[in-house]
Amino acid sequence: MSKYKNIESALIHGGIYGDEHTGAVNVPIYQTSTYEQPELGKHKGWEYSRTGNPTRAALEALIAELECGKAGFAFASGMAAITAVLSLFESGDKIIISSNVYGGTFRVLDKVFKNFGINYTIEDTTDLAGLDSKITPDVKAILVESPANPLLTVTDLSGVSEIAKKHGILSVVDNTFMTPYLQRPIELGADIVIHSATKYLGGHSDLVAGLVVVNDEALAERIAFIQNSTGGVLAPFDSFLLIRGIKTLGVRLDRHVANAEKAAEYLKLHRAVKQVYYPGLPDAQGYEINRRQAKNGGAMISFELYENYNIAKFFSSLRLIALAESLGGVESLVCHPASMTHASIPYEIRQKVGITDGLIRLSVGIESIDDLLFDLDQAIAESEM
Ligand SMILES: *Cc1c(COP(=O)(O)O)cnc(C)c1O
Repeated sequence: MSKYKNIESALIHGGIYGDEHTGAVNVPIYQTSTYEQPELGKHKGWEYSRTGNPTRAALEALIAELECGKAGFAFASGMAAITAVLSLFESGDKIIISSNVYGGTFRVLDKVFKNFGINYTIEDTTDLAGLDSKITPDVKAILVESPANPLLTVTDLSGVSEIAKKHGILSVVDNTFMTPYLQRPIELGADIVIHSATKYLGGHSDLVAGLVVVNDEALAERIAFIQNSTGGVLAPFDSFLLIRGIKTLGVRLDRHVANAEKAAEYLKLHRAVKQVYYPGLPDAQGYEINRRQAKNGGAMISFELYENYNIAKFFSSLRLIALAESLGGVESLVCHPASMTHASIPYEIRQKVGITDGLIRLSVGIESIDDLLFDLDQAIAESEM
């Protein structure tokens, strides 16, 4: 019988706990590229650190356990993880991505994989019937985010997996915004889960990392082969940092979400705010679906100020909240999707999917909520024209 039943404990004790040789409670950083082999044709399970490293292996076992999958893989960035997954496909294959997908995911498909004959189409994955009708014989996978960046659009993950299963194709979920603490796509039927672990899993804005979890042995073998062949692996020290970050994921997210719920309510009532996007608000798009498939609305909020507020002035007036790319760290960050995270998406597509120039994305940190609301309020006041 397992030593624990709940994810709060798995975050701390999951995967490979500590070091059996010394009793150290943390997995050591195996800072080595190679491993001495006792005799020709024999090794101790480790040959070369691109293929496998014990610190990375501990992290990979941990994320597989947390996501309830069969195997995990750690990469040097979220984009390296996405690239490894996209390397499963071949020339002539097509991948459906949801509108509002992470800008880098769109870019790697549009500017890199397209050159190798792997095509994509952008579809509204919130419309399941519409999505089903878009599955042509060349479509081999559906890649979604829920909630999706930056309008926090909710997609029914069980619904998407069912459509994928019906057509014999893969469903892939980028679970960066929720993490396994709030949402476990494999339990909802997904085949592959991807993370930019740079965000909540790392949680301290001090590393760049990516993870992949698969729920099938054959798929695991293929990803392991791609990981070893293309080589975008996570370093031992960064693997250690990520294991360290994941231990506090539960307590961090509890606070992130409590703050985000208060901030969303506050912004919704603010006279300067035209629109708030937060899946934890009962009148949000997909609120009921999100409630079914996730623990809560997460800690990302987007909002739009009315036209008589100067966006640039708003950003420059913030004193506590930093203007920066990225999200999911303990410190609150804001960004301007149109010119930052989603700048690689052409203007016409941005307008079509609702990423207006007035949109602000807020990654709510774990500071005092009173200090955060005070900062938002004074910056909004400063930006009134
Ligand atoms: C940041 C991010 C990525 C890319 O990850 P990197 O670690 O920056 O390479 C992919 N998907 C989502 C949803 C992200 O937020």
